Amino acid sequence: MSILKVARLGHPVLRQKCHSIDPKTITGPDIQRLIRDMFQTMGDYNGVGLAAPQVHQPVRLVIAGGQEDEDGRPLFRVLINPEITVLNEKERLGMYEGCLSVPGLRGWVERPDTISVKAYNEKGQKQEFALEGFPAVVLQHECDHLDGILFVDRIEDMTRFAFDEEAARYLDLAGEEDNEEEAEE
Ligand code: ZN
Repeated sequence: MSILKVARLGHPVLRQKCHSIDPKTITGPDIQRLIRDMFQTMGDYNGVGLAAPQVHQPVRLVIAGGQEDEDGRPLFRVLINPEITVLNEKERLGMYEGCLSVPGLRGWVERPDTISVKAYNEKGQKQEFALEGFPAVVLQHECDHLDGILFVDRIEDMTRFAFDEEAARYLDLAGEEDNEEEAEE
């Protein structure tokens, strides 16, 4: 396993539309190695999610966390060729998002709160499930990466875009109902 280098804002790999993965190759050695390396990289950076283009692989694969399993342990999902359907366009959840590819900065982004997701998992099985709240936000942030979109593109009020330290001092991070505002995706 390897810790991979994370591409940062300005690298063109973060701005391209990623290719779909042939489902037959998911259980093959290349994709399995990429998944393992992405888990290790995300762990090393304390990320709550990671998209393949962030490690210079322009393919439609993300890891998304922000959830717990029934035993209270962090649950991370591997999603390949994910497709998101917004279940309620009116209900939106805002939070200060960060990104491993935009280190040291965070900004206020609002996204749909409830989504349904179709994707292959790491075993090549098709899955469909619904998510709401923080894990839904994480997953949308990660899937945006697959289309070359970064959270900075979704900030509407640039007065709510700041370095971590200034954000902690001057912005109302505590005003969020979630306590994951430090999460890096
Ligand atoms: Zn990100």
